[in-house]
Amino acid sequence: MKLVFATNNAHKLREVRAILGNSHQVVSLADIGCEADIPETSDTLEGNALQKAEYVWERYGLPVFADDTGLEVRALGGRPGVHTARYGNPDGHDPEANIERLFAEMADKDDRRARFRTVVALIEADGTRRTFDGIVEGEITRQRLGEGGFGYDPVFWPEGHDGTFAQLGEDVKNAISHRARAVAALCAHLNQ
Ligand code: IMP
Repeated sequence: MKLVFATNNAHKLREVRAILGNSHQVVSLADIGCEADIPETSDTLEGNALQKAEYVWERYGLPVFADDTGLEVRALGGRPGVHTARYGNPDGHDPEANIERLFAEMADKDDRRARFRTVVALIEADGTRRTFDGIVEGEITRQRLGEGGFGYDPVFWPEGHDGTFAQLGEDVKNAISHRARAVAALCAHLNQ
């Protein structure tokens, strides 16, 4: 079955294809000729994921899923949450500025607990809407550790593991990450 993943992020596409295997042909926005920067204006992860999926569904009529991820830091009352991508720089994705702001806001915090949460929204061929959650618990480190990954990976140390996402590498991350868990839930549903 052909299924659109409403993204053009090659890293995410690879991750998701590895998890879904051959049961579904996952195509990207570029593959269906969609060049738009799809708006994400909701104040929840669920709302943004659904908004992206709706955009494709309305224009292309293809079954589609979309994701949205937030980093939820306990000592910051769940922030940056839905604002994770633009936390350090409202104009756009700037991983260095994001980490700098996180360190600054957490400078006096001993409670370093945080979690990544991904919501995947699916619109099936018959128009049914569903959402799937994936969570990984962990802590925010006091310095950057590791070179791999992207975004907040060098400062997020998942619970029960020996390093940050940036140190653990792609295989470990793909097995335990928030996105992996949400996509696994999606996959279980699709293969039912
Ligand atoms: P998005 O909704 O997947 O685009 O994620 C929003 C923001 O969360 C990204 O711009 C990254 O800053 C951060 N993020 C999402 N997933 C990860 C991850 O696996 N590792 C590190 N940062 C992530």
